[in-house]
This record gives sequence, structure tokens and C-alpha cells, in this order.
Amino acid sequence: MGHPHVLIVAQYLFLLFTILTTTSSVSIKLPTGPLRKWGIKLCNNASCIDTASTDYGNIVHEIPYGVFYPSSVSDVVNLVKSSYESPAPFTIAARGNGHSVRGQAMAKDGVVVEMASLNTSITVSGNSSSGTFYVDVGGEQLWIDVLRATLKHGLAPVSWTDYLYLTVGGTLSNAGISGQTSFHGPQISNVLEMDVITGKGELITCSEDVNPDLFYAVLGGLGQFGIITRARIVLKKAPTRVKWVRMMYDDFSKFSKDQEHLISIQGGMDYVEGNLMMDTTSSTIVNFYSPYDVLKINHLAPARNGSLLYTLEVAKYYDTRRDINTIDKELEMELKGLSYKPGLIFSKDISFFDFLNRVGNLDHELQTIRRGVGVGVGVVRHPWLNFFVPRSRIVEFNQRVFVEILQNQGLYLVYPINRKKWDDRMSVIIPDDDDDDDEDMFYTVGLLFTSQSDDDFSRKEKQNNEILQFCSESGINIKQYFPHYVNKQDWMKHFGNKWDVFQQRKAQFDPKMILSPGQTIFTSA
Ligand code: FAD
Repeated sequence: MGHPHVLIVAQYLFLLFTILTTTSSVSIKLPTGPLRKWGIKLCNNASCIDTASTDYGNIVHEIPYGVFYPSSVSDVVNLVKSSYESPAPFTIAARGNGHSVRGQAMAKDGVVVEMASLNTSITVSGNSSSGTFYVDVGGEQLWIDVLRATLKHGLAPVSWTDYLYLTVGGTLSNAGISGQTSFHGPQISNVLEMDVITGKGELITCSEDVNPDLFYAVLGGLGQFGIITRARIVLKKAPTRVKWVRMMYDDFSKFSKDQEHLISIQGGMDYVEGNLMMDTTSSTIVNFYSPYDVLKINHLAPARNGSLLYTLEVAKYYDTRRDINTIDKELEMELKGLSYKPGLIFSKDISFFDFLNRVGNLDHELQTIRRGVGVGVGVVRHPWLNFFVPRSRIVEFNQRVFVEILQNQGLYLVYPINRKKWDDRMSVIIPDDDDDDDEDMFYTVGLLFTSQSDDDFSRKEKQNNEILQFCSESGINIKQYFPHYVNKQDWMKHFGNKWDVFQQRKAQFDPKMILSPGQTIFTSA
């Protein structure tokens, strides 16, 4: 890329920006040099820039030189073309809902595309006689809206994230995982077709059969190969209700053995997750358990005395029109023989919608971070660490990380995932299966930290580094999910034997390295 040109353009724009923003408080649409030909207008008032340089993590803040609010897919095509055809290409980041934690949707001195402004429709189609249904949905759409739209037809996607206020384009650029992943694969395994704008500004339809290289590159591709403007996602008949059960363990081996057992039975559970229960006061606890349950937990599993409490969480879907008389019996059979602590099993019966939307909407947190107002919010950060751990090392990992290193309260997820529905042609990276002969599963671990002060943030970053260092020194070949690395060696190690193909695909679909620079894969030294 022509960096000197970028600098000149950026300086010119910054000068213009300064003049314009200091002389007017209204929203300014700034026509830029290379963009003028295409009639592209950028916003760079303080509010636009602030949004585009903030994400859920609140750790990285990169200032773009403009923010683009497209009203059509061809607007985005024109934007990317204008960069690609310019002698001084500028970087472009699609911004979904800004739920990255390390600036992955930012574009320093480049253009951030606020995908939400596309606001395309959600269309459900299918064939009742063959029972095949799908939804065509814009990359900018939130999963909560996909759920609402498909439920109107009695249908729903099969693979989810825990949190639904994420965009389709954003999760498909990672993987999209939750307790359903073991049974249906990640969200990227449930896509039939996509429309993608490559880094050359070409709008291409791709699928397993048509332009498969682009299709597999984009799935889990961290935004490096194209901007997803439409995805066609598999739908199945939606259940109406859910039996949602939590069981507690104070022995990690029993806990993980039961988790593995439950995910190995097809036709049993519909969702299996697990987490560490550090205390009985956090919001995830209070929202599920009654005050009486909490008393019971405190009574039956008192002060932990060095051992942790683990919660195994399962869900079984059912349909009130069909299964009402059998569901309890089926569930009882499936949970029979599990080794949770006697008495520490709790259940709820809720609607399918409420189950999928159980986390609710946390977007006010992002808005508060953006506004920088309120008690201490300017320093609320989310130094999350998410990764996949080979199954063969999870017991050792539990002992060192969960038991010995993690000292603070927080939400810590840990559950196994079946490997078989992850297609190796996709860009996403999971642990190698040659670490152990029977690695048909791997574990996902999510350390979802919130830090409330600069000191707290430093402590948690130190702890994150300690965990990563432990894994590295003990040869535990973890793979980060929403990976973040600052140097090329680490990226190469992350991709392992897929690095060459990742690079080739970059050269093919985004040769000028325009897209999603905030991932820092091709910009790190
Ligand atoms: P952004 O953060 O805006 O973008 C993420 C990346 O994708 C950027 O590089 C961006 O440039 C690129 N991108 C965005 N849109 C497009 C597009 N249309 N085409 C191509 N590239 C694009 N993940 C899970 O898998 N499971 C979970 O249960 C889960 N829960 C979460 C809960 C919370 C509270 C948060 C903050 C995150 C969670 N995530 C989860 C992580 C989530 O998948 C990522 O944050 C992801 O980036 C989606 O967020 P987003 O839609 O806001 O995308």
C-alpha cells in the first residue's frame, strides 16, 4: 500500500476536518479526494468518530479519518472500489455492532463503514414439502432481529451465540459459538450462501459450489477477505419452550466427564455449556436462581475451601403441541447417572425466545462507555480472553488457571465442543487434532473480565499474560477465539499450517490489504 499517499490524504483530511468541525456543530459530510469521483460522503464529526473508535473492550481507540453510512450495498461497493482503484488506497473496516474487545472493527486513518445504516430486509424462504428453509439476511442485521423475523414463520436458525445483539457479519467473521455448537456446528457451519464485497470492490455471490474459495475464506476470516452483505442461513422448525437446567459440581473431572457425555449423545440435549461459579451474588446467578436456591447453594456448597464450584448448564427444547406429556420423563432419563452434587440441581421452564435472549441487551454498557459518563464508566473495560483448549490438557489447565491463577470474581465459561461440524476449509482456527489421537472434542474457555479502574485493568492484563505464558511454557496448544496478537510471528503461530492459505487468500481477494485493518494481521511487524 502507498503509505506516503495515505499520509498526505490523511493530513489533508485532518486539516479539513479541523477547519470544518471547529466552525460548525452540525453533522458534516466530508467529500474526500479519492472518494469524490464516487460521490461517497463521510461523516467525521466528534460523535461519528467517537462511535467508530470505541468498542465493547474500551481498550483500543483508533481514530478513522471518516465514517461512512451507506444506504445501499452499491454504496459500499463504490467505497471499496474507490480505495482499490486509488493510487493511495485507504483502509476500510466494516463495523457490525462494535462488540469487539481489541479494536478489531476500527480503521486508523481509514474509513469505518457503519453497517447498521444498510438496514436491509430479512427474507424467509423454503419448501414445506422438502422441509428445507432458510433466511436471507443482511450482514448488518442483529441476531435478535433474525430470531424475531424467523419465529413469525415458526422457524429459527439452529446455531446461536449466547448474546444476540451481535451482527450476522461480525459473528460469521469469527465463528459464532454457544451451547448448540456441539450439535449443529458453529454459526459459520450453517451458512448456505453469501454476497461478499471483496477488497477489489467486486460484489460476489459465493457458496460451497459457487466461488467456494471466497466462501470458505470469509467464514471465520476475521473480515480479511470481504464485507458480507447477505448471508443465507439454514432454518429449522422452532420449538416453543425450553427446559433449562443447571447442576453443580465441586470436582472438575466429574463435571467435564458429564459435559462430554451429554454432547456425545445426538438427539439428547439441545444446548450444553458450563461455567465456574465464583460467588452467589453475580448477575448470572441472581437471574437464574430464586433466593431459596441461593440459600440452598450456600448451605450445601459452603465456602469453597480451595475447591471450585462448577455449573453444568443444559437445555432441552420441546413443543407444547406435541411433547408436553413426555418431556419431563425424557429429561429425567437423560440426566440420570450424572455426578452433580446431590440436591444441587435447578431448573426453569421458559419460552424458546426468552431462553435464546437470556442475556438480554447489554448495549447500554457500550453506549455508556462511548459517552464516557457515569460513575467510573470512563475506565470500565473488558479485557476478555477467549480460547480453545485441547481436550487432552483441560484437567491440567483447570488446576493451574481456574484453581491457582484466577483470583477474582467474574464470568468464566468452560465447555467442550464436538469437532466434527467444523469444516477445515473455513478460515477459523481450532486446536489441531493431532495432539491426541482421539481428539474429537476441544474445550472453549471464556474469561469474560470487566475491569473498573486502571489498576484493576493492569492486574487483569497481567493475569491474562500469566495464563498465556503458562499455556505456552507447558506446551498447551491453545487457539485464541477473537484472536488478538501484536506481532506477525504470533499470528503465524496462531494460523499454523493454515497460514500459507490465509495469506494466499488475502492476496487473491484483498491484495491491497484494505479490509479490517484493526485485526492487525497484515499490519503487525
Ligand atoms: P464487530 O465487533 O463490529 O466486528 C468484528 C469484526 O468483523 C471486525 O473485524 C469487523 O471489521 C468485521 N465485520 C463486521 N461486520 C462485517 C461484515 N458484514 N462483513 C465482514 N466483516 C465484518 N461470540 C460468540 O461466538 N459467542 C458468544 O456467545 C458471544 N457473546 C458475546 C457477548 C458479548 C457481550 C460480546 C461483547 C461479544 C460476544 N461474542 C460472542 C463475540 C462476538 O462474536 C464478536 O464480538 C464479534 O466481533 C461480533 O460482534 P459485532 O457484530 O459487533 O462485530
